[in-house]
Amino acid sequence: MKERTKASLDLLYSISRELTAQLDLRDLLQRILRLTLEAVGAPAGSILVLDERGEVTEGAVAYGGRVHDHTGDQLRDTYEQGLAGWVVENREAVLIDDTLHDPRWLQKPEQQDEDETRSAISVPLIARDRVVGVLTLGRRKAGHFSAEDLALATSIADQAGIAVNNAHLYDVSQRQLRAMKALSETARAITSSLEVDEVLQRITEQTMKSLDVEAASLALIDEESGELIFKVASGRAADQVVGTRLEKDQGISGWVLQNEEALFVRDVQSDPRFFAEIDKRVAFETRVMACVPVQVRNKTIGVLEAINPSSGMLLPEHVDLLTGIARLAGTAIFHAQLFEQTQAARQRYASLFEDSIDTILITDLQGKVTDANRRAETFLGFTHEQLVSENIFSLHEAARDRLPEKLDQLDTSETISYDTHALSRTGRQLPVEVHVKRIQIGTISFLQWIMRDISERLALAELRTDLTSMIFHDLRSPIGNIISSLEVLQATLTGDDETIRSVLSIAMRSSRRASRLVESLLDLDRLETNRAVLNKTQASIGALAAEAVEEIHPTAEAKGQMLRMELPPRLPTLEMDVDMIRRVLINLLENAIKYTRGGDQITVRAGTRDGELLVSVADSGPGIPAEDLDKIFDKFTRVTKDDRPKGLGLGLAFCRMAVEAHGGSIWVESEEGQGSTFSFTLPQS
Ligand code: ADP
Repeated sequence: MKERTKASLDLLYSISRELTAQLDLRDLLQRILRLTLEAVGAPAGSILVLDERGEVTEGAVAYGGRVHDHTGDQLRDTYEQGLAGWVVENREAVLIDDTLHDPRWLQKPEQQDEDETRSAISVPLIARDRVVGVLTLGRRKAGHFSAEDLALATSIADQAGIAVNNAHLYDVSQRQLRAMKALSETARAITSSLEVDEVLQRITEQTMKSLDVEAASLALIDEESGELIFKVASGRAADQVVGTRLEKDQGISGWVLQNEEALFVRDVQSDPRFFAEIDKRVAFETRVMACVPVQVRNKTIGVLEAINPSSGMLLPEHVDLLTGIARLAGTAIFHAQLFEQTQAARQRYASLFEDSIDTILITDLQGKVTDANRRAETFLGFTHEQLVSENIFSLHEAARDRLPEKLDQLDTSETISYDTHALSRTGRQLPVEVHVKRIQIGTISFLQWIMRDISERLALAELRTDLTSMIFHDLRSPIGNIISSLEVLQATLTGDDETIRSVLSIAMRSSRRASRLVESLLDLDRLETNRAVLNKTQASIGALAAEAVEEIHPTAEAKGQMLRMELPPRLPTLEMDVDMIRRVLINLLENAIKYTRGGDQITVRAGTRDGELLVSVADSGPGIPAEDLDKIFDKFTRVTKDDRPKGLGLGLAFCRMAVEAHGGSIWVESEEGQGSTFSFTLPQS
């Protein structure tokens, strides 16, 4: 008896020494277990540690007289179904004489052989009034343990409680430290890249490393299909997992996505939410899983999963670490996406800029060139480096009157445009159309100068002017000659051959028409350039109108149109260039004939109004669309609607210039389908 007491005391003494010296929980547990087993002469036993939530976090198992490596699952089974669970629940030490006849012992049918434990002791480890663990000892022989053994085990447990708790706390704080380290390492790894794919890959790699798991994967919601797609995976079967798709509400990931909540599943295979297809396809068994939502700016964009602990256990507290990683991941993904978008936008802008057929120069607000596109180099003859040291004002003749005094007064909403010359390196003047705009690049303001080469446009305009004036001049005298020859012929013609007379009069009318056209075009040219000299005489508008009507009467008749004149008996005479005003009238009448159909009515009216003479030519033709009313008096403008007859669009331009040169005005009133009335006024003095 003495012997035993001494042995017990020795044991307690060495345990207390062990306890104070040890802070590594796993080591501590193994030592306690080993010493206790030796002391009570038991070949098997276990010691488990529980956290605040009552979850098994660590432990040691011994059988065959040796302490073994264990798995988390093994320990958990022992606890949940076995004697230890009972002890914790009842906070009571227990001695079992024969496990075969005690329901508190975990019965494993497949292990019912002679190796099986028959008698057992199990005591709670208590610290600060909380059960922090359980110590269980077993023997193959029934009725082996005595009350003394139980007392000894209880004494050990009393001592071990505090130490285990301290070691456990130390372990927790160590783990937290590791978690913090893992997080900061993860942050460093993830944020060291801005490429989305690389960032994603690093997230799963870091997850694997930090949580010490067999596999980790990241699935993101596909905007288009709304499905969850596994973008990256690390660890076992990673290659096959990538690209796998899940419905948004499918599987454990789907649940996490829908509930926007972290989830820890201890036994995945028996969880009804588990979607087993992927496991089957990639020949992998998911046992334990932690899954957390990945959010970007409060929006869940996917999930991060950590699967199966590699060694040790995957604990609920790991979920916190995973959540931390997911949070980092969200931010990193957001930044990487933003960066990629910015890059893409920049690239788009850069190619627009570089490939533009126009010269584009970017300057600061003082006009110093900061960037220039390829076209700028070829157009102006500078290299990029040379351009960048130039000032915009030495590269073109700026329209100072159009630009604000200080360029920084330019508003971002306005574009200033003007025609001018750019100056090439060799001093050549290059005609350009310049568009200046203030732009914002990041937080800094710049000016964008687009220079469009307009040399071709100018050359064409010049060519057209040259061509028209050449035609007019070269047509004018031959037509004049034809008319005077015809007049001579008419005057000298004897006999009454109707055919000859009618042919002659057709020739006369046609050549007069050609002459009028040439005269009007020449007038237009002169009036536009203020070179016109009005040959004014006193004349009666009534007589002029009558002449005009008579001149074009045969054409109207040939088309079956009715021409009428409504003139009051006494109209005042006016100072005017008779030839010009006659051509204005004939022009309006000819238009009326040309643009109306057979059977339409054309009426010429004249009268006075507010001290002015008002003349109008009205028709019952198709009219003019409202949107064209203002434009038809411009050069080369015609109504292109339907299949209306086409002209050059010069007649009305001449009429307006001629009337305005007399101090009058001209306009049209018309409604489509209702005919048109062209009116003009001439002041009386
Ligand atoms: P042109 O007759 O040579 O085309 P104008 O300057 O005389 O040039 O006329 C400009 C356009 O106005 C015509 O093309 C035609 O479409 C329209 N227009 C002129 N007069 C009439 C009219 N009386 N009725 C309908 N459209 C007209």
